Amino acid sequence: MAFKIIVCAKQVPDTNVIKINPKTGTLIRDGVPSILNHDDANALEEALKIKDQYPDTHITVITMGPPQAKDLLMECLAKGADEGILVSDRAVGGSDTWATSNTLEAAVKKVGEFDLIFAGRQAIDGDTAQVGPQLAEKLDIPQVTYVEEFEIDKNMKDITVKRQLEDGYEVIKLQTPCMLTTIKELNSPRYMSMAGIFGAKNKEMKVWNAKDIEVDLTKVGLEASPTNVFRSFTPAPKGKGVTIEGDTDNEVAKKLLINLKGKHVI
Ligand SMILES: Cc1cc2nc3c(=O)[nH]c(=O)nc-3n(C[C@H](O)[C@H](O)[C@H](O)COP(=O)(O)OP(=O)(O)OC[C@H]3O[C@@H](n4cnc5c(N)ncnc54)[C@H](O)[C@@H]3O)c2cc1C
Repeated sequence: MAFKIIVCAKQVPDTNVIKINPKTGTLIRDGVPSILNHDDANALEEALKIKDQYPDTHITVITMGPPQAKDLLMECLAKGADEGILVSDRAVGGSDTWATSNTLEAAVKKVGEFDLIFAGRQAIDGDTAQVGPQLAEKLDIPQVTYVEEFEIDKNMKDITVKRQLEDGYEVIKLQTPCMLTTIKELNSPRYMSMAGIFGAKNKEMKVWNAKDIEVDLTKVGLEASPTNVFRSFTPAPKGKGVTIEGDTDNEVAKKLLINLKGKHVI
Protein backbone atom coordinates (compact mmCIF):
# COMPACT_ATOMS: atom_id res chain seq x y z
CA MET A 1 0.00 0.00 0.00
CA ALA A 2 1.26 3.46 -0.87
CA PHE A 3 2.85 5.52 1.88
CA LYS A 4 0.63 8.57 2.32
CA ILE A 5 2.02 11.98 3.18
CA ILE A 6 0.06 15.17 3.78
CA VAL A 7 1.87 18.50 3.52
CA CYS A 8 0.24 21.60 5.02
CA ALA A 9 1.26 24.64 3.03
CA LYS A 10 0.33 28.28 3.35
CA GLN A 11 0.40 31.02 0.73
CA VAL A 12 1.97 34.10 2.31
CA PRO A 13 2.83 37.63 1.17
CA ASP A 14 6.50 37.96 0.26
CA THR A 15 7.77 39.73 3.36
CA ASN A 16 10.87 40.91 1.48
CA VAL A 17 8.57 43.18 -0.48
CA ILE A 18 5.91 44.01 2.11
CA LYS A 19 5.80 47.40 3.82
CA ILE A 20 3.99 48.69 6.88
CA ASN A 21 1.72 51.73 6.67
CA PRO A 22 3.36 53.96 9.33
CA LYS A 23 0.04 55.68 10.15
CA THR A 24 -2.27 52.67 10.51
CA GLY A 25 0.37 50.08 11.45
CA THR A 26 -1.17 47.61 9.00
CA LEU A 27 0.51 45.68 6.18
CA ILE A 28 0.36 47.23 2.74
CA ARG A 29 -0.61 44.15 0.70
CA ASP A 30 -1.38 45.88 -2.60
CA GLY A 31 0.88 44.65 -5.35
CA VAL A 32 2.71 42.31 -3.00
CA PRO A 33 3.38 38.91 -4.60
CA SER A 34 2.25 35.76 -2.78
CA ILE A 35 4.68 32.91 -2.30
CA LEU A 36 4.84 29.43 -0.80
CA ASN A 37 5.77 29.87 2.86
CA HIS A 38 9.51 29.15 3.23
CA ASP A 39 9.31 26.40 5.88
CA ASP A 40 6.51 24.74 3.88
CA ALA A 41 8.83 24.50 0.88
CA ASN A 42 11.15 22.48 3.15
CA ALA A 43 8.18 20.36 4.29
CA LEU A 44 7.27 19.58 0.69
CA GLU A 45 10.90 18.91 -0.24
CA GLU A 46 11.25 16.29 2.50
CA ALA A 47 8.07 14.58 1.30
CA LEU A 48 9.42 14.62 -2.27
CA LYS A 49 12.71 13.10 -1.09
CA ILE A 50 10.77 10.18 0.39
CA LYS A 51 8.90 9.85 -2.91
CA ASP A 52 12.21 9.89 -4.82
CA GLN A 53 13.29 6.91 -2.74
CA TYR A 54 9.93 5.14 -2.57
CA PRO A 55 8.07 6.10 -5.78
CA ASP A 56 4.68 4.73 -4.76
CA THR A 57 4.52 7.39 -2.02
CA HIS A 58 1.48 9.62 -2.44
CA ILE A 59 1.76 13.30 -1.50
CA THR A 60 -1.30 15.45 -0.84
CA VAL A 61 -0.80 19.17 -0.26
CA ILE A 62 -3.53 20.95 1.70
CA THR A 63 -3.87 24.69 1.92
CA MET A 64 -6.57 26.83 3.49
CA GLY A 65 -6.85 30.17 1.80
CA PRO A 66 -8.50 32.35 -0.81
CA PRO A 67 -9.07 31.09 -4.41
CA GLN A 68 -5.67 32.42 -5.55
CA ALA A 69 -3.99 29.86 -3.26
CA LYS A 70 -4.51 27.48 -6.21
CA ASP A 71 -1.27 28.98 -7.58
CA LEU A 72 0.58 27.58 -4.57
CA LEU A 73 -0.92 24.16 -5.20
CA MET A 74 0.11 24.29 -8.88
CA GLU A 75 3.66 25.03 -7.75
CA CYS A 76 3.62 22.04 -5.37
CA LEU A 77 2.18 19.76 -8.08
CA ALA A 78 4.82 20.97 -10.53
CA LYS A 79 7.52 20.08 -8.01
CA GLY A 80 6.17 16.53 -7.72
CA ALA A 81 3.20 16.37 -5.32
CA ASP A 82 0.37 14.12 -6.51
CA GLU A 83 -2.69 15.98 -5.36
CA GLY A 84 -3.61 19.48 -4.17
CA ILE A 85 -6.53 20.43 -1.97
CA LEU A 86 -7.64 24.01 -1.48
CA VAL A 87 -10.01 24.60 1.41
CA SER A 88 -11.69 27.88 0.65
CA ASP A 89 -14.87 29.34 2.07
CA ARG A 90 -16.01 32.69 3.41
CA ALA A 91 -16.96 30.86 6.60
CA VAL A 92 -13.29 30.17 7.40
CA GLY A 93 -12.03 33.66 6.48
CA GLY A 94 -10.62 35.64 9.40
CA SER A 95 -9.62 32.48 11.28
CA ASP A 96 -6.89 32.70 13.92
CA THR A 97 -4.55 29.75 14.50
CA TRP A 98 -7.08 27.78 16.58
CA ALA A 99 -9.77 28.12 13.94
CA THR A 100 -7.25 27.42 11.16
CA SER A 101 -6.19 24.15 12.78
CA ASN A 102 -9.86 23.19 13.24
CA THR A 103 -10.34 23.65 9.50
CA LEU A 104 -7.18 21.71 8.63
CA GLU A 105 -8.20 18.93 11.03
CA ALA A 106 -11.53 18.55 9.23
CA ALA A 107 -9.77 18.56 5.84
CA VAL A 108 -7.26 15.90 6.94
CA LYS A 109 -10.09 13.74 8.26
CA LYS A 110 -11.84 14.02 4.89
CA VAL A 111 -8.62 12.97 3.12
CA GLY A 112 -8.74 9.82 5.23
CA GLU A 113 -5.79 7.60 6.10
CA PHE A 114 -2.29 9.06 6.20
CA ASP A 115 1.11 8.01 7.50
CA LEU A 116 2.88 11.30 7.92
CA ILE A 117 2.02 14.99 8.05
CA PHE A 118 4.63 17.63 7.35
CA ALA A 119 3.99 21.28 8.16
CA GLY A 120 6.34 24.20 8.25
CA ARG A 121 7.52 25.30 11.66
CA GLN A 122 6.24 28.80 11.14
CA ALA A 123 4.50 31.00 8.59
CA ILE A 124 6.42 34.17 7.72
CA ASP A 125 3.33 36.39 8.01
CA GLY A 126 1.47 35.09 11.08
CA ASP A 127 4.70 33.87 12.68
CA THR A 128 3.12 31.98 15.55
CA ALA A 129 4.35 28.40 14.88
CA GLN A 130 1.08 27.19 16.44
CA VAL A 131 -0.84 25.61 13.57
CA GLY A 132 1.25 22.42 13.15
CA PRO A 133 1.30 21.52 16.86
CA GLN A 134 -2.40 22.37 17.26
CA LEU A 135 -3.28 20.14 14.31
CA ALA A 136 -1.29 17.22 15.76
CA GLU A 137 -3.07 17.64 19.11
CA LYS A 138 -6.47 17.67 17.47
CA LEU A 139 -5.67 14.58 15.38
CA ASP A 140 -4.22 12.96 18.53
CA ILE A 141 -0.94 11.95 16.88
CA PRO A 142 2.66 12.34 18.12
CA GLN A 143 4.54 15.40 16.92
CA VAL A 144 8.08 16.69 16.73
CA THR A 145 8.74 20.34 15.91
CA TYR A 146 11.87 22.07 14.53
CA VAL A 147 12.99 19.03 12.53
CA GLU A 148 16.41 19.58 10.93
CA GLU A 149 17.26 15.98 9.99
CA PHE A 150 14.90 13.18 9.01
CA GLU A 151 15.31 9.48 8.37
CA ILE A 152 12.71 6.81 7.77
CA ASP A 153 13.38 3.09 8.02
CA LYS A 154 12.53 0.93 5.03
CA ASN A 155 9.72 -0.60 7.11
CA MET A 156 8.11 2.86 6.57
CA LYS A 157 7.13 2.92 10.22
CA ASP A 158 10.17 3.94 12.29
CA ILE A 159 11.32 7.51 12.00
CA THR A 160 14.40 9.18 13.50
CA VAL A 161 14.58 12.95 13.59
CA LYS A 162 17.04 15.51 14.85
CA ARG A 163 15.24 18.41 16.46
CA GLN A 164 16.85 21.81 16.75
CA LEU A 165 17.03 23.41 20.18
CA GLU A 166 18.29 26.86 21.12
CA ASP A 167 21.51 25.45 22.56
CA GLY A 168 21.88 22.04 20.91
CA TYR A 169 19.70 19.29 19.47
CA GLU A 170 17.65 16.25 20.40
CA VAL A 171 17.46 12.96 18.49
CA ILE A 172 13.98 11.49 18.72
CA LYS A 173 12.61 8.20 17.49
CA LEU A 174 8.93 7.88 16.75
CA GLN A 175 6.53 5.93 14.60
CA THR A 176 4.00 6.79 11.96
CA PRO A 177 1.38 8.19 11.94
CA CYS A 178 2.86 11.43 13.22
CA MET A 179 3.33 15.12 12.50
CA LEU A 180 6.67 16.84 11.91
CA THR A 181 7.26 20.56 11.55
CA THR A 182 10.21 21.51 9.42
CA ILE A 183 12.87 24.22 9.40
CA LYS A 184 15.14 25.49 6.64
CA GLU A 185 18.18 23.49 7.81
CA LEU A 186 16.37 20.27 6.80
CA ASN A 187 16.99 20.50 3.05
CA SER A 188 17.24 22.73 -0.02
CA PRO A 189 13.91 22.88 -1.82
CA ARG A 190 14.06 21.93 -5.51
CA TYR A 191 12.91 24.16 -8.35
CA MET A 192 10.01 23.36 -10.62
CA SER A 193 11.09 21.64 -13.85
CA MET A 194 9.57 22.39 -17.28
CA ALA A 195 8.17 18.85 -17.45
CA GLY A 196 6.80 19.27 -13.92
CA ILE A 197 5.02 22.51 -14.84
CA PHE A 198 3.33 20.91 -17.88
CA GLY A 199 2.58 17.70 -15.94
CA ALA A 200 0.94 19.63 -13.07
CA LYS A 201 -2.02 20.51 -15.28
CA ASN A 202 -3.02 16.84 -15.46
CA LYS A 203 -2.78 16.24 -11.72
CA GLU A 204 -5.67 16.32 -9.31
CA MET A 205 -6.64 19.64 -7.72
CA LYS A 206 -9.68 19.68 -5.46
CA VAL A 207 -11.46 22.70 -4.01
CA TRP A 208 -13.43 22.01 -0.88
CA ASN A 209 -15.72 24.35 1.03
CA ALA A 210 -16.71 24.23 4.69
CA LYS A 211 -19.64 21.93 3.93
CA ASP A 212 -17.43 19.48 2.03
CA ILE A 213 -15.16 18.99 5.04
CA GLU A 214 -18.10 18.93 7.47
CA VAL A 215 -16.34 21.33 9.81
CA ASP A 216 -18.24 22.65 12.82
CA LEU A 217 -19.07 26.22 11.75
CA THR A 218 -19.01 27.40 15.36
CA LYS A 219 -15.26 26.57 15.43
CA VAL A 220 -14.04 28.43 12.35
CA GLY A 221 -13.87 31.98 11.02
CA LEU A 222 -13.44 35.34 12.66
CA GLU A 223 -16.34 35.08 15.12
CA ALA A 224 -15.12 31.77 16.50
CA SER A 225 -11.49 32.87 16.81
CA PRO A 226 -10.47 33.35 20.45
CA THR A 227 -7.57 35.65 19.53
CA ASN A 228 -8.25 39.39 19.69
CA VAL A 229 -5.80 41.80 18.15
CA PHE A 230 -5.97 44.98 20.26
CA ARG A 231 -3.36 46.96 18.39
CA SER A 232 -0.62 46.37 15.89
CA PHE A 233 2.23 48.79 15.48
CA THR A 234 5.75 49.15 14.19
CA PRO A 235 8.21 49.73 17.06
CA ALA A 236 9.77 53.19 16.84
CA PRO A 237 13.35 53.04 15.57
CA LYS A 238 15.91 53.16 18.38
CA GLY A 239 18.24 56.15 18.64
CA LYS A 240 21.76 56.06 17.29
CA GLY A 241 24.17 53.84 19.22
CA VAL A 242 27.11 55.27 21.17
CA THR A 243 30.63 54.55 19.98
CA ILE A 244 33.24 54.60 22.69
CA GLU A 245 36.67 55.45 21.45
CA GLY A 246 40.09 55.34 23.08
CA ASP A 247 43.76 54.69 22.33
CA THR A 248 43.87 51.37 24.19
CA ASP A 249 41.42 48.58 25.04
CA ASN A 250 41.87 49.43 28.72
CA GLU A 251 40.87 53.01 28.14
CA VAL A 252 37.76 51.97 26.16
CA ALA A 253 36.80 49.44 28.86
CA LYS A 254 37.20 52.12 31.56
CA LYS A 255 35.00 54.57 29.67
CA LEU A 256 32.39 51.83 29.14
CA LEU A 257 32.43 51.03 32.87
CA ILE A 258 31.92 54.67 33.81
CA ASN A 259 29.13 54.94 31.28
CA LEU A 260 27.30 51.84 32.56
CA LYS A 261 27.73 52.88 36.20
CA GLY A 262 26.41 56.33 35.31
CA LYS A 263 23.27 54.72 33.90
CA HIS A 264 23.02 52.43 37.00
CA VAL A 265 23.22 49.37 34.74
CA ILE A 266 25.96 47.92 36.94
C1 LIG B 1 -8.62 37.60 14.40
C2 LIG B 1 -7.69 37.08 13.36
C3 LIG B 1 -8.13 37.02 12.01
C4 LIG B 1 -7.26 36.52 11.03
N1 LIG B 1 -7.69 36.44 9.74
C5 LIG B 1 -6.89 35.92 8.78
C6 LIG B 1 -7.31 35.78 7.42
O1 LIG B 1 -8.43 36.11 7.09
N2 LIG B 1 -6.44 35.26 6.51
C7 LIG B 1 -5.18 34.86 6.88
O2 LIG B 1 -4.41 34.39 6.05
N3 LIG B 1 -4.77 34.97 8.14
C8 LIG B 1 -5.59 35.49 9.11
N4 LIG B 1 -5.17 35.62 10.38
C9 LIG B 1 -3.85 35.14 10.68
C10 LIG B 1 -4.03 33.69 11.02
O3 LIG B 1 -4.16 33.50 12.39
C11 LIG B 1 -2.81 32.96 10.63
O4 LIG B 1 -2.33 33.38 9.39
C12 LIG B 1 -3.11 31.49 10.46
O5 LIG B 1 -3.96 31.00 11.45
C13 LIG B 1 -1.84 30.70 10.53
O6 LIG B 1 -1.09 31.09 11.63
P1 LIG B 1 0.39 31.47 11.41
O7 LIG B 1 0.46 32.31 10.18
O8 LIG B 1 0.95 31.99 12.65
O9 LIG B 1 0.98 30.04 11.03
P2 LIG B 1 2.02 29.17 11.81
O10 LIG B 1 1.37 28.52 12.96
O11 LIG B 1 3.26 29.96 12.03
O12 LIG B 1 2.22 28.11 10.63
C14 LIG B 1 2.87 26.88 10.86
C15 LIG B 1 2.57 25.97 9.71
O13 LIG B 1 1.20 25.60 9.73
C16 LIG B 1 0.75 25.41 8.39
N5 LIG B 1 -0.30 26.37 8.08
C17 LIG B 1 -0.53 27.56 8.66
N6 LIG B 1 -1.59 28.17 8.07
C18 LIG B 1 -2.00 27.33 7.10
C19 LIG B 1 -3.03 27.40 6.13
N7 LIG B 1 -3.84 28.44 6.03
N8 LIG B 1 -3.18 26.35 5.28
C20 LIG B 1 -2.36 25.27 5.35
N9 LIG B 1 -1.36 25.17 6.24
C21 LIG B 1 -1.19 26.18 7.09
C22 LIG B 1 1.95 25.63 7.49
O14 LIG B 1 2.59 24.40 7.29
C23 LIG B 1 2.80 26.55 8.33
O15 LIG B 1 4.17 26.53 8.00
C24 LIG B 1 -5.97 36.12 11.39
C25 LIG B 1 -5.56 36.21 12.73
C26 LIG B 1 -6.40 36.69 13.70
C27 LIG B 1 -5.94 36.76 15.09
